[in-house]
Amino acid sequence: MAYPEKPILVLVDVTPSGAAAPSTAALIGAASSLGAPIALVAAPAGTAQAAVDAAVAAGARVVLTADVDPGTLTVPLVDAVQAAYRDVRPDAVLVSNSISGRDVAGRLAVREHLALSVDAVGVSRDDEGVLAHHSVYGGAFLTDSAPTFGAPVITVRQGAVDTRAEAAPDARVQALAVEPSGAAAATGAPIQAVEAVSSRPELRGAKVVVSGGRGLGSKEKFVLVEELADELGGAVGASRAAVDAGYIPYAHQVGQTGVSVSPQLYIALGISGAIQHRAGMQTAKTIVAINKDPESPIFDVADFGIVGDLFTVVPQVIEALRARKN
Ligand SMILES: Cc1cc2nc3c(=O)[nH]c(=O)nc-3n(C[C@H](O)[C@H](O)[C@H](O)COP(=O)(O)OP(=O)(O)OC[C@H]3O[C@@H](n4cnc5c(N)ncnc54)[C@H](O)[C@@H]3O)c2cc1C
Repeated sequence: MAYPEKPILVLVDVTPSGAAAPSTAALIGAASSLGAPIALVAAPAGTAQAAVDAAVAAGARVVLTADVDPGTLTVPLVDAVQAAYRDVRPDAVLVSNSISGRDVAGRLAVREHLALSVDAVGVSRDDEGVLAHHSVYGGAFLTDSAPTFGAPVITVRQGAVDTRAEAAPDARVQALAVEPSGAAAATGAPIQAVEAVSSRPELRGAKVVVSGGRGLGSKEKFVLVEELADELGGAVGASRAAVDAGYIPYAHQVGQTGVSVSPQLYIALGISGAIQHRAGMQTAKTIVAINKDPESPIFDVADFGIVGDLFTVVPQVIEALRARKN
């Protein structure tokens, strides 16, 4: 099958309801900055038309569709990506740095003997091929990675890439033939995908994240973080100290041993800014810190800082935001 020149294969993360994950537009946008985006939508038969439509709208030149067995974990998805890789022979494979994306990317790289670059915050191309850019050591350094042979498999941090592509007028959708590999896989147990029900955006990939730290003092007072997040339509994050103290579940932890986020706006409330926390948020476009200690290291990375008691400042911020809306 013929593909446009400089094809870049993009695996679309599909949600349990058959929609494309919010990371899709940025992944396809990133691919369009490198070459021709070829999207793969692999999902149980007949469930993912919305994801196909989203991939076309996001600028995919070709959308490949593959049916995967809903009763088996991961392996059918890897089989589909491998079949797409062999058919397309892309210059790079872009995958979301989600839990499932990382799983698939690693397995594809092993199967096809390709280099794996994880948690990229950007991609580009030079004379020799595709490079991935990484933010490392708590955001203190930017590094590049590139393979010495073959196409790189790159997982891209959600929210880190802003590039968006226009829908291609000649986009086409075609079914991909996938030969099951027969690789050992978890099957048999009833697998039921559960979609989290929340009016807030998901932490990874959210445009606005409001995080709270030990400075909140208790689970009851942590509600203030949620109130500000809701006022801004953002997700709620936390430092490890806040998680360890039981103010909020671990799923909200931002940092080295939690989630890495790259929102447009990150607001840190009562967080000191330890390097392990900064590792997960330093690539945010704008960082605002509210902390009563002017020496707090969070102010070293903040674009805007307020030195003050968060219990005095945050209610005023919420009030001001409400007043602007009315
Ligand atoms: C291997 C390893 C991995 C780690 N991984 C992570 C990770 O993934 N994420 C993470 O966050 N941490 C991680 N940590 C922990 C990290 O080192 C810090 O201990 C943690 O980030 C501190 O959280 P904090 O800023 O909420 O608490 P603190 O450091 O105690 O800071 C609380 C801040 O709140 C301010 N404050 C207090 N009261 C108020 C008030 N009323 N108004 C305004 N400000 C106030 C204080 O001035 C202070 O700056 C890790 C540590 C290790 C060793």
